[in-house]
Amino acid sequence: MKINIIGAGIGGLTTAIALEKKGHQVEVFDAAVALRPIGAGIIMASNAMQIARRLGFADEIAQAGNVLDRFGIADHEGRPLQMMDIQAIRTKFGEPSVAIHRGQLQQVLLQQLPNTPIHVNKRLQSIQQVSGGKVLAFFEDGSQAESDVLIGADGLRSATRKAIFGEKPLRYSSHTCWRGIIEHQFEAAHEAKELWAKTGGKRVAMIQVAPNKVYFYYTEKHKSGFKVPSTDQLSYLQAQFSEFPPMYAEVIAKANPSEIFHDDLYDLKPLAKWHQDRVMLLGDAAHATTPNMGQGGCQAIEDAWYLAEYLERYSNVAEAFAAYEQFRRPKINFVVNTSFMIGKMSNLGGALGHRLRNWVLSATPKKMAEQQLETLFRLQ
Ligand SMILES: Cc1cc2nc3c(=O)[nH]c(=O)nc-3n(C[C@H](O)[C@H](O)[C@H](O)COP(=O)(O)OP(=O)(O)OC[C@H]3O[C@@H](n4cnc5c(N)ncnc54)[C@H](O)[C@@H]3O)c2cc1C
Repeated sequence: MKINIIGAGIGGLTTAIALEKKGHQVEVFDAAVALRPIGAGIIMASNAMQIARRLGFADEIAQAGNVLDRFGIADHEGRPLQMMDIQAIRTKFGEPSVAIHRGQLQQVLLQQLPNTPIHVNKRLQSIQQVSGGKVLAFFEDGSQAESDVLIGADGLRSATRKAIFGEKPLRYSSHTCWRGIIEHQFEAAHEAKELWAKTGGKRVAMIQVAPNKVYFYYTEKHKSGFKVPSTDQLSYLQAQFSEFPPMYAEVIAKANPSEIFHDDLYDLKPLAKWHQDRVMLLGDAAHATTPNMGQGGCQAIEDAWYLAEYLERYSNVAEAFAAYEQFRRPKINFVVNTSFMIGKMSNLGGALGHRLRNWVLSATPKKMAEQQLETLFRLQ
């Protein structure tokens, strides 16, 4: 089939790779003026790495990133509340979890698509499903593109979603988040630890993504729209980090202020449907989740693989889309709901609240936490 994909993010590019491997003719359209290696870091968990192995680029990700041995949650002083040794899970599922610079991940994905037309400066405006089983995509510059199937992988504020279902409300998570890349090398480079402060939804992590490159993120609980002037951001973060061990303020001091990204965090209230006729939503466009489980990108990658599988398995698009949605929904709902709940739990503050929260985390049997990870990492 001729399949057009809107969005050249993690989901769109991986879907292009998976569909091309099944023999479809694919074109990708992105609103950005150019596909630049920007952004901070991301963790490609074992489930995404297993798909990357099936699609043939797992080694490239592992080489460009940093393989993790341990990850979990610690209190504001760095004392472990729930740390997991993920070596055993790696042995079980065959693939590690890898922390990587987003720009590097994008490069690896683009390298798998040397002959695919990837058009930039193409902002989708509207869609028309025409008789004869064709879909027309109309772009802001006045151009249009026709295909048999259209995949909307255009992220949280998806224009494809709006075109087929109208405006859908986003849910503000009550967290705002700063992130960036800092030139630094940790000795414990293979550990990803998130520290939870006593109040204010304050959480910080600093994770090695490559030699001398550390990805940091930091959240706080605020009403949406909270802003710190960009010239004051670094000093603001340094002051806020005084609650954590001194290393955090020391490392953040090395950040380049112009490369600190700040966004409010939203997810999407679960949609009743992800597709309409021959248009399917994928990744954040279909089921944006809060980043508390580090799974939004990983689930977009799972979507890509299974969508290509279901389109191959069924001779008719309607049946393939319906079966794919039915198959993907339970796992997606688990991720979106659990992630939202973790965000709420992290907000518990005050003398009692944070003790209760920390107790729940540290008292959760290791076996149970590992089982939850296995549910995430297991593919069918
Ligand atoms: C702080 C934070 C940390 C995170 N950490 C992790 C993590 O560790 N692991 C993980 O798996 N996930 C993580 N995520 C989630 C992850 O970033 C997203 O789930 C993932 O990027 C979604 O990929 P996508 O391809 O669906 O959308 P995007 O990556 O948002 O890509 C959408 C693309 O569509 C394009 N586009 C938008 N509108 C239009 C339009 N109208 N026309 C054409 N093109 C358009 C955009 O330019 C963009 O290139 C995190 C998210 C946040 C906010």
